[in-house]
Amino acid sequence: MKTTMFMEPGKVQIEDIDKPTIQAPDDVIIHVVRTCVCGSDLWAYRGLEDKATHSENSGHEAIGIVEEVGSDITTVQPGDFVIAPFTHGCGHCAACRAGFEGDCQNHTDNFSNGVQAEYIRFQHGEWALIKIPGQPQDYSEAMLKSLLTLADVMATGYHAARVANVSAGDTVVVVGDGAVGLCGVIAAQMRGAKRIIAMSRHEDRQKLATEFGATDIIAERGDEAVAKVMALTNNAGADAVLECVGTEQSNDTAMKVARPGAIVGRVGLPHEPKMDMSESFYSNTIIAGGPASVTTYDKQVLLKAVLDGDIHPGKVFTKSFKLDEIDDAYQAMTKREAIKSLIVVD
Ligand SMILES: [Zn+2]
Ligand SMILES: [Zn+2]
Repeated sequence: MKTTMFMEPGKVQIEDIDKPTIQAPDDVIIHVVRTCVCGSDLWAYRGLEDKATHSENSGHEAIGIVEEVGSDITTVQPGDFVIAPFTHGCGHCAACRAGFEGDCQNHTDNFSNGVQAEYIRFQHGEWALIKIPGQPQDYSEAMLKSLLTLADVMATGYHAARVANVSAGDTVVVVGDGAVGLCGVIAAQMRGAKRIIAMSRHEDRQKLATEFGATDIIAERGDEAVAKVMALTNNAGADAVLECVGTEQSNDTAMKVARPGAIVGRVGLPHEPKMDMSESFYSNTIIAGGPASVTTYDKQVLLKAVLDGDIHPGKVFTKSFKLDEIDDAYQAMTKREAIKSLIVVD
């Protein structure tokens, strides 16, 4: 089967490898229908993070058809159409029961890898997989795109809003205009935010943020952005802040625009994790966040919201590629020609 190999910074390519097989009783083999490139895949591709040359791709978002199940699997069967989240919670440890399966206490291999491929071996599939009614051909391409966001970005944006406790009537600031930040705007609106201030300096993303429910756009960064938020909120700051980037500057901005006692919900993978904790003390700021609870949100709210047509997070996929064009898909995101690149697997 075809899979994507990370060759070196700036280069991924398709190679032919053996199809995965069941190795544990709770494994599920999935024939991938749609996968994509994540902003987090770009860190190594841009050479900003070490990754071994000629190594498995870091792709972790897919929807597909169950091909084969291990002997312990009772929840899905061959032929089922499923969302394969990037998290693999057990569903019954203390973390999973509290709705934090991104930190499942029973699984050390709790995250997906290598899903930019024709087939994947999904470990711990019993609770983590989410069944989609019907078959892929029952859905429009736009709907398939939205369903794919439920493997990561829409759930991650929702996680930021949930841990930041976005509530009806709130003023929310979303830091970051990548796919996750844009999904954070959707999530803030779903949870009843009255004012959603999106930080974005790219026209295509500003447009989508507005379409998703942002009431104000701030193109500035750093202290200029902070000043703008303060001006927009009569110097109050935001009731909740979604940090969807993960850099030192974005975290610093997030902390500074939070009103005293507000929660900063962090879902940007921290790459420069230095934070001045004394600042949060003197503003009573609460810092929350981490890996999203994908299965929990999909089952509770997100799958229904997508199927009912209430939200359209698939609009973050602004370019489509075939699996053979995987390097072009990475390039399009690296050059910011695409907000997020979809991969169609035949
Ligand atoms: Zn991702
Ligand atoms: Zn668990």
